[in-house]
Amino acid sequence: MARTVIAGDFGGTNLRAALVSEAGEVLVRQEVSTPADTSPDAVLERIGDLLAEVRDRGEDPPVAVSLAVAGLIDADRGIVMVSPNIPAFRNLSLTAPLSERLGIHVSIENDASAAALGEHRCGAGRGARHLLHATLGTGIGGGLVIDGRLYRGAQGLAGEIGHIVLDPAGPPCGCGSRGCLEATAGGVAFGRRAQRLVESGSAPILAEIAAGQPAT
Ligand SMILES: [Zn+2]
Repeated sequence: MARTVIAGDFGGTNLRAALVSEAGEVLVRQEVSTPADTSPDAVLERIGDLLAEVRDRGEDPPVAVSLAVAGLIDADRGIVMVSPNIPAFRNLSLTAPLSERLGIHVSIENDASAAALGEHRCGAGRGARHLLHATLGTGIGGGLVIDGRLYRGAQGLAGEIGHIVLDPAGPPCGCGSRGCLEATAGGVAFGRRAQRLVESGSAPILAEIAAGQPAT
């Protein structure tokens, strides 16, 4: 019998889940939209339905479920403290109700930490003793593997490089600080800088692209 696990990735737009083999091969993939209804019960039910469907599409029953969620996670207690994109996830016990419904062990992890672990086990960091994984998108996240193990730090924020302050007088950041790496070099920050350049007239090619006329 092949050993498989279910991996979940929950964001503000979509809830994704996959059945994955021990070798890291994705066998089944499924996603649904995150419910607009922000009640915790509605979100938990949608997640439970998604995980059950993925479980049932596999040939062998998975041995565990692991869920990646953006935000502040208490992995030991299975609780999402705060998730910026899913308002229903506030001091919400995620693993206990899902484990009860599915009859499988369920764990949660911060999404950037889970990505770091994924790269270490199956990706670019395979075989490395230490690894820092950076996620670049709307924001900047990070996860840290030390001596082959995920390092969470005292409050689960180890490796979160996005809020290192580069310039105390820099642009304000969503975290309340100023001049963080994310506020300076994240996707939103790049967009703002590009807009300023276009408006000042100092980036004519960028202005053409923004107006839908690709530069020749
Ligand atoms: Zn910040």
